[in-house]
Formats: sequence, C-alpha cells, structure tokens
Amino acid sequence: MEQEKLICTGCKKEYPYDRIFPRCDDCSEPLELNIVHHNSLHKNSTIDKDVSVYNQNIIRKFAPFYSLSCIEDKLSLGEGFTPLVAADKLPPILDIDSLYLKNETVNPTWSFKDRGTFVSLQHAKSLGYKTIGTVSSGNMAASVAAYGARANLETFILLSADIPLEKIQPVLIYNPTLIKVKGDYGKLYYESLKIGREIGIYFLNSDIPFRIEGSKSISFEICEQLNYNVPDYVVIPTSSGGNARGIIKGFMEYHKQGIIDHLPGFICVQLEGCAPIYQAWKNGEEKISAISAPEAIDNAITNPYPPSGNELLRKLKMYNGIVTTVSDKEALEGQLLLAKEGIFAQPAAAVSILAIKSMRSRGIINKKDKCVAIITGSGLKYTGILNKHNFASETCTLKELKGKIASIIKK
Ligand SMILES: *Cc1c(COP(=O)(O)O)cnc(C)c1O
Ligand SMILES: [Zn+2]
Repeated sequence: MEQEKLICTGCKKEYPYDRIFPRCDDCSEPLELNIVHHNSLHKNSTIDKDVSVYNQNIIRKFAPFYSLSCIEDKLSLGEGFTPLVAADKLPPILDIDSLYLKNETVNPTWSFKDRGTFVSLQHAKSLGYKTIGTVSSGNMAASVAAYGARANLETFILLSADIPLEKIQPVLIYNPTLIKVKGDYGKLYYESLKIGREIGIYFLNSDIPFRIEGSKSISFEICEQLNYNVPDYVVIPTSSGGNARGIIKGFMEYHKQGIIDHLPGFICVQLEGCAPIYQAWKNGEEKISAISAPEAIDNAITNPYPPSGNELLRKLKMYNGIVTTVSDKEALEGQLLLAKEGIFAQPAAAVSILAIKSMRSRGIINKKDKCVAIITGSGLKYTGILNKHNFASETCTLKELKGKIASIIKK
C-alpha cells in the first residue's frame, strides 16, 4: 500500500495523515486523502462475502479503501448499507426509462451525514480526541450529536442564532452542548476550525477529509447494487460540496482500481435562492462568490459560501460535470413525487427529481440514460415545511363512517 497522506485540492501541497486542520495553510482550499492504489485488488476481492452486513460497518466492508487501521466497531449505529430503490412511478413522469433512488433517509439520524460522521469519529478517536464539534443547523448537527453521545465524547454544536427551536430539538435530544452564535454564519465554519486547532476540539465540519471518505461509500454501494454497471448520471443535492466530492472520489477510486470501467456523469443540484456553485459554473468562473442574502426553502442546501465550492468546480470541470438549479416550488413538488414511491424526503433531498425532469426536457439527459438520484435526507425532522402542501383530510362521526368510506372508495 502507498503511504497515506493529505493533499491540498487546490495547490497539491502535501500534509501528514494525522493533521486534523482540514484546510491548506498556503491557499486555504480543502485537503483530501490521496487515492491509494492496491496491487492485488479487483472487483471480487473488495467484498468480504463471509461477513454478514448485519455485523459490518462501511469501513470494514470497504476496508481496502479506508486508511484507518484501528477502528472501534461499537461506535457504529448501522450507517450506510442503504437501499437503492428502482423508481416505479417516476420514470414516465420524468420521461426517462430508469431511475434509481439511493435512499439515504434510512440512516441512523436520517441523512447521509452519518457516514462521514462515523468515519471522522474513528479518526478523531484514533488520535485521542476527547472533544468533537460541528457547525450546522440541521442534519449534520443531529448526526454529530448522536455519534458524540454514542462515543461518550463532549460534543459542541455551533449554529447561527436565528434557527427556530423546532429545528434544534432533533439535535438537543442527544444532549450536546449547543451554542447559538450571533454573526456571520459563513465565517463560523472557519472560526470553528481555528478554535478547534487552538484548544483541541476535532471539528467534524461539512467537508473535512474524513467526511469525504464517508460519502465515498455511497458510490461503492451504488456500484455493487447495480452489479458494477455504472449509471449514466448520479444526481446530487449540493450545498457545501462535501458530499458531491465524496461521491465523485468513490467512483474515481473504483475506476482507478479497475472495478468499474468508466465514470458516471455527475449532476449537482442547488436551489435557485442560494446557488453559488451554479453561478460560478454557469459563468465559467474558477472560484465561487458568496451569496449575500440566501432565500430558499430548506437550509440543508443553502450554504451561501460553500467551503468545497472551488474544489467541486475543479472536479466537475475535469469530468464534464453539470450544475443546475430548481425552484423552491419544484423542490416541494419533488417531495410529493418521492412520496409516490414511498419515500419521505426533505425538500433539499428531493431537488434531484425536478432537476432530472428539466434536464430531460432540455435534451441534456437522454430517455435511455440510467440515473441515480441521491435522496440525501428524510423529511421527518422538519415537519414545519409540510404546511406548504395544504394536505386535506376528511372528518366524520363513527356512525357516518361506513357511508363516508363507501362514498369515497374507488370502485
Ligand atoms: C448536508 C445535506 C446536503 C448537502 O450536502 P453537502 O455535502 O453540504 O453538499 C444535501 N441534502 C441534505 C438532506 C443534507 O443534509
Ligand atoms: Zn493549498
């Protein structure tokens, strides 16, 4: 095995493996683990068939692709191993032949964040950290708080002061130390990393190297679930850019290893009201610019200054990736369409659906193309948003019930 190291995604400067500060000292771009080449690895040997999935975790399962030699299995909550559901009703609606839904809503805290939290936590523990933290208002906060509780680590959750209590309760249930910080939320990401370095807290923020390592398992699973037939497109709701980077890296690693023979197309989707990566991509810029007043329905994908935006642009350029946007209304429509398939996603996780529809109608996606939509998180934590749907229901007395049902039932 080659030596593990961290490499700056911007200037390629190398850093030692045990560094936890996730940005480059010179150019401030995100660091990433190098891709390791294994001499004797091929498709069949990546999977340990003897070990039941019920006793596994993603690091064990894909061990050759993880550089953590010593891990604590008991910190796993069963993250990953999520279903890839063949959509049944959506293909005709979107005018495509086949669509697969990678259902990340079934993770332990109902989003893909648990993969990266689990892997980062192993790194933090292996380095002896007793305190972890994150900056997030939603899914990542819940994920880090849950795994922090599980691992018995002091856990700091930093979030902006204007987040309503309803959104914080699914985090507070795990009893972390939660601090509401007044001021520029975009700067909080960098400030937390600085504080972490100074006083010894491992901040598991959105795009730290080991979080990317967690996300790459999504791609490994998709490959296996599709019997190593690479899809034409993978469609990814995108905010900080961390998850998209991880998914791209996963396919790259399998490709480099010869486990798959080509890469899929990558489509990143943002909401119109906060689309800094889309803006830069559309204008052919190399660097993202901050969005000053983001206004969008679901803050899981409204990072106004995505810390991995520049690196994602570099990767998308390298692989002819695409960035697109949908409106809030389309995100809500996507949520209802996914419900038709039996999946309750939050609007941020449903943006892919209408994005596929519009790219199909513009002829960018062909009817025959096989698409995988990453359904990044569940709708269950944010039921307030459901008020936008105006759901209807019926009321009657017990006596009226039979007549009521008889009048409604489809013959
Ligand atoms: C975090 C999150 C995203 C965005 O992922 P990034 O890595 O920040 O790009 C998308 N959807 C959901 C549900 C999320 O929780
Ligand atoms: Zn650099």
